[in-house]
Amino acid sequence: MAAVKNSNPKTGSADCIFCKIVEGGLSAYRVYEDGNVLAFLDIFPIHPGHTLIIPKKHYANIFDTPESDLQSIIAVAKKISLAVMRATKADAINIGMNNKPASGQVVMHTHLHVIPRFKDDGLKTWPQRPYGSDAEKAKTAETIKACL
Ligand code: 5GP
Ligand code: ZN
Repeated sequence: MAAVKNSNPKTGSADCIFCKIVEGGLSAYRVYEDGNVLAFLDIFPIHPGHTLIIPKKHYANIFDTPESDLQSIIAVAKKISLAVMRATKADAINIGMNNKPASGQVVMHTHLHVIPRFKDDGLKTWPQRPYGSDAEKAKTAETIKACL
């Protein structure tokens, strides 16, 4: 089968599967769309109803996505979260975003995950640990502030 090309002018890459979904060259179960944003079901859901929210323009991750598009996707994520809660009778919602491969990002087109959660569904979030000392906390906060 011939490769599906996408014509999203922002991509510069014909390899982005989410651009292909935007363009219609790859099918997806779309749940919401407006001029800037598309929401569709994740093909491998954590629970049914797990939805991805993407800007229609191609950006790789949060770092190269303009604030206006980030605002658009988070606003849609709220709308979709409410609908997914109602539709799936979920008790709660996780909103997640992976940025760069070391975080677990696999598809390099900016996206938010809206994930329905249920009491006692057995899923754990990532492990946490205390800081070693108050000095480590203070140094960490100061280092971040210095990088702003
Ligand atoms: P990431 O790990 O990059 O944050 O998440 C990418 C998500 O995209 C994964 O949860 C994965 O299941 C989903 N995904 C990958 N390929 C497709 C696809 O072709 N169609 C849809 N609907 N979702 C996909
Ligand atoms: Zn893309």
